[in-house]
Amino acid sequence: MYLYNSATHKKELFRTHTPGRVEMYTCGPTVYHFAHIGNLRSYIMEDVLEKYLRYEGYDVNRVMNITDVGHLSGDSDDGEDKMLLGARREHKTVMEIAKFYTDAFFEDCRKLNIKTPDTVQPATGLIPEFITMIEGLLDKGYAYVAGGNVYFDTSKLQRYHIFFDHDEEDLQVGVREGVEEDVNKRNKNDFVLWFTKSKFEDQALKWDSPWGVGYPGWHIECSAISLKYNGEYLDLHCGGIDNAFPHHTNEIAQSESYLGHPWCPQWFHVHHLNTPEGKMSKSKGKTLTVPTLEEEGYDPLAYRFFCLQSHYRKALVFTWENLDNAAGAYAKLIARVAALKPEDGETDAAVVAEYRQRFMKAMSADLNTSLGVTALYDALKAKTNDATRLAILADYDSVLSLSLLEKAAQKRAEEAKAAASATVSSGVTVTGEGDPEIDALVLQRAQAKKAKNFAEADRIRDELKMKGIELTDVSGGVVWKRI
Ligand SMILES: [Zn+2]
Repeated sequence: MYLYNSATHKKELFRTHTPGRVEMYTCGPTVYHFAHIGNLRSYIMEDVLEKYLRYEGYDVNRVMNITDVGHLSGDSDDGEDKMLLGARREHKTVMEIAKFYTDAFFEDCRKLNIKTPDTVQPATGLIPEFITMIEGLLDKGYAYVAGGNVYFDTSKLQRYHIFFDHDEEDLQVGVREGVEEDVNKRNKNDFVLWFTKSKFEDQALKWDSPWGVGYPGWHIECSAISLKYNGEYLDLHCGGIDNAFPHHTNEIAQSESYLGHPWCPQWFHVHHLNTPEGKMSKSKGKTLTVPTLEEEGYDPLAYRFFCLQSHYRKALVFTWENLDNAAGAYAKLIARVAALKPEDGETDAAVVAEYRQRFMKAMSADLNTSLGVTALYDALKAKTNDATRLAILADYDSVLSLSLLEKAAQKRAEEAKAAASATVSSGVTVTGEGDPEIDALVLQRAQAKKAKNFAEADRIRDELKMKGIELTDVSGGVVWKRI
């Protein structure tokens, strides 16, 4: 496949160090709060990427960290400790906070059909490995001890800025006002590998180290975790675009200095989810989470569908109206899949294979998921029988993970049940042209009205309108006709 590489700013043919095998690393969540749906956009797109690589036949080893220590609210060693902030906010211990929000993150992932990586490693579980790596960096002269902390010395690198063409002046502007300058740093981009001088009196998690009791900086965890589980040569590193600098830049600095050879050639960054007011973030007021979407009546997979409709390298604007449109389209798609009859014909393997090629053409062009979604509609119209159409959709959905066949089967069962109990349970007679799918929808609407669920009744009426069906309420029933 061709994939845009943030490290070279080009679309390139995807390649791996070991043929057929992908060593893939993903920066995981900092578990001090619920993940907002902007964070989850990254995990959805990375999930599609992993599944697509497997679809192409690669053996993928995917590793992810869980940040439960060391991440300060400013990514460049300033601000407060995020885990401590969470603990203080909720009057719990740091480890309780970590456990609660780690579980919440994987629950969100489950609802969004995001596969759990092969290895998930909390940072607190690998402290000895971090220490070994920091010792190695000190031995090689890439790090120094100052004021009780260990720092990475960025002046020892030939090239530090990888992802953006920052010049010195840009970085100067990037230094935030109101943040106390760390006087121990020799160069302003130097970053902490190990803290012994905690700024926080009640720093809960501390470990012994050759430099005193303390805790690791945020960046070292990803380098060390990837080294342990992916080996010395990483093929693909993923994360949200906001992690590119300084986090990923610092990971490269540490890993390549420690290993003494190039580390990861391909970098995949997912762009922001914005609101009309700007970037979505936890620090700005109420955050949108998967539970929020559910409270508002949305299926989390409608949000996955919304994300897949646009390219991962474009900023995506979230509004409720946009989500409504996606949810409506997703419901219609499921209804169309449900209208296919599994018993119609034998699966034609040649047609499935031909459609597989079409899907790969779309997806291998820099993970073009919106074309991948379009391919679903093409499959529905394929000149073949329903059994083959369903097989093509199942094949595509092994990558897109929209649960299309499961939801369609559920819908078919519900419709059959509704149709069977038509006049008995509802007291509503449906009269039309005898189309069971339309009858079932008309009946569902009548039942929703009876249950005073007018929003659902209106939604079904609109759906029927889209299908060109006109309804007339008559006494004791509903008459429908095609217009
Ligand atoms: Zn990371």
